[in-house]
Amino acid sequence: MSGIRPTGFLHLGNYFGALRNYVRMQDAYTCYFMVADLHALTTLNETKGLKQHVRRVLAENIASGLDPDKVALYCQSHVPETSELYLFLNMLAYKGELEKTPTFKDKVRLQPNNVNAGLLTYPVLMAADILLHRATLVPVGKDQEQHLEIARDFAGRFNKRYEREVFPEPFAFNFGEELVKVPSLDGAGKMSKSENQMATIYLADDDDTIRKKIKKAKTESVADPAAPMPASIENLFQLLKLVCTPDVVSKFHADYQAGTVRYGDMKSELAEGMVSFIAPIREKAEQIQNDDSYLKKVMEQGAAKARASAAVTVELAKEAIGLIYY
Ligand code: ADP
Repeated sequence: MSGIRPTGFLHLGNYFGALRNYVRMQDAYTCYFMVADLHALTTLNETKGLKQHVRRVLAENIASGLDPDKVALYCQSHVPETSELYLFLNMLAYKGELEKTPTFKDKVRLQPNNVNAGLLTYPVLMAADILLHRATLVPVGKDQEQHLEIARDFAGRFNKRYEREVFPEPFAFNFGEELVKVPSLDGAGKMSKSENQMATIYLADDDDTIRKKIKKAKTESVADPAAPMPASIENLFQLLKLVCTPDVVSKFHADYQAGTVRYGDMKSELAEGMVSFIAPIREKAEQIQNDDSYLKKVMEQGAAKARASAAVTVELAKEAIGLIYY
């Protein structure tokens, strides 16, 4: 189970942190993937763009290789059981612990005039999303590790409080070893939907925009290649690894070690790798996004699958709590 917020265009971080794993998981597991539109409400000041963003995220999920016939691909708000479980879990969540969550502190800094209760209980809603399907594996990027720990806590707390093993423990999941963090092009932080648009590569970016952004990526000259690599250069190598062949990566590594690396060449290679990777996804997503009847079918079919699974869980939760009276 996993989800992506419809707060902007998807980017390489969403792809390599989340989507790539979704696609690999779909043949081996029962999967639930959603567009987290309720989560988006915690930070959106106005909702006019929501419809377009939800459709775009769905289209980009499918264009990246997700098959709505194999998985449940749905919108969070189409599954009202989410809100029911969220309410139950809120009874087990404490103000103090929620206030300490680093993502809450970050958001308070970003939107000091809109510190709403939804923002505070974001991790509870996220736990509800996951526990709703009694999911065990949650494909997410590294930035979500802490939220997963909170979801595990709630699962354990619920089971203990109501003395029934309703929820298994969910874990962050990535094919391969490490959870992924795709760095931003300005040498600081991660790529993200809204914060640093010139330093983030979107799946919707056209070829020239991609080239332009990479050309502007931060680099710095290195006097001693044996010293630790500066973050901006390490980031470029990390991005190169994502979209270019190992040969290309080794060549630039060797050049770096020899002190002869030309960042202009490295960036051109990276830009062309990105363009060939993104163009087919962008084109397919555009097509899907304009296909009203197909998207409606995808959403309805996804919600039906998700609600079937959710209804069973909510019933189990109610029984455990003692909310069944006849
Ligand atoms: P954003 O931070 O761009 O708004 P979301 O919060 O909707 O993205 O996260 C959707 C998924 O994408 C999550 O699994 C998250 O871990 C992953 N993700 C987002 N940014 C990155 C990044 N730069 N590197 C790796 N994974 C990321």
